[in-house]
Amino acid sequence: MLLIGSENALEALPPAMQILKQGGSALDAVEAAIRLVESNLEDHSVGVGGWPNLLGEVELDASLMDGRNRSSGAVGALRGYPHPISVARRVMDSLPHVFLTGQGAADFAAEMGFERAETLTDIAAQEWIARVQANVPPAKMAALFQRREMTAWVALTRDPQRIAGTVDVIAIDGQGNIASGVSTSGWAWKYPGRLGDSPIIGAGNYCDNRHGAAACTGYGELAIRGSTAHTVVLLMQMGLSLVEACQQALRDLPPAPPGWEDNMMNIVAVDRDGNHCGATNIKQWDEYAYMRDDMAKAEIAKRIYVPTT
Ligand code: ASP
Repeated sequence: MLLIGSENALEALPPAMQILKQGGSALDAVEAAIRLVESNLEDHSVGVGGWPNLLGEVELDASLMDGRNRSSGAVGALRGYPHPISVARRVMDSLPHVFLTGQGAADFAAEMGFERAETLTDIAAQEWIARVQANVPPAKMAALFQRREMTAWVALTRDPQRIAGTVDVIAIDGQGNIASGVSTSGWAWKYPGRLGDSPIIGAGNYCDNRHGAAACTGYGELAIRGSTAHTVVLLMQMGLSLVEACQQALRDLPPAPPGWEDNMMNIVAVDRDGNHCGATNIKQWDEYAYMRDDMAKAEIAKRIYVPTT
């Protein structure tokens, strides 16, 4: 049995491993680990406490995938519910659909009995308002808050300390089944309604028992355009090794748009034999978390660095 995740999942892997050891499924372990990160108020990239959008609204994205049959569930731009990963799982289990967004996702969460909660914390609100006040002239505030002129301020999303985050978790259970999941509050100060790669099956998340699984963090638009998580798994299907597949998927990333040079991307992935790998094109983002069932605690492993243009 194996769990891997982005480095912010480190603390969440041991309780998830307990679930696997007690016979729980890979999906159960992925959901449980991600819920713990979603509850961590100090993680400003996921769940409660996540950085809000340009208007100060926390919009959460999540998806998960079952490698047995590629069943998937996803929610995007969900407001007012602290555990988007569980809502995504319920979409998968209860609907003939894969992906709900915005008001529809919130309506579904309410209908399924999920508890509403405030997801914007004081710290996140203070950071957001300080950033807006420092950049948007007073004469422009009304147009911003009336949702009439927002495009001009999307450049605020280039906040270097705030842009990155997201949690990825991949599990292999005692039956050899694989599941993957991703949850995020997305880019800080993003345009309202913006979806990143995290809730998009094939972009931020992909899983297939026959070949393996991959999940991404980073500049989500690039993973959407490159179908990056699916690319990793497809390359393994085509015969590349796990490491080669991760390297090639990063090399195959599309370029960032002009003026947005940050083409950062991270991948965590497993193959069907239980090998694991982390890869990144950003030297400083060189860690991911993993735990096998014979380990007493989760550990950090180094990502392979793959320079991309
Ligand atoms: N991929 C996420 C997104 O684009 C952000 C991140 O991983 O840092 O929303």
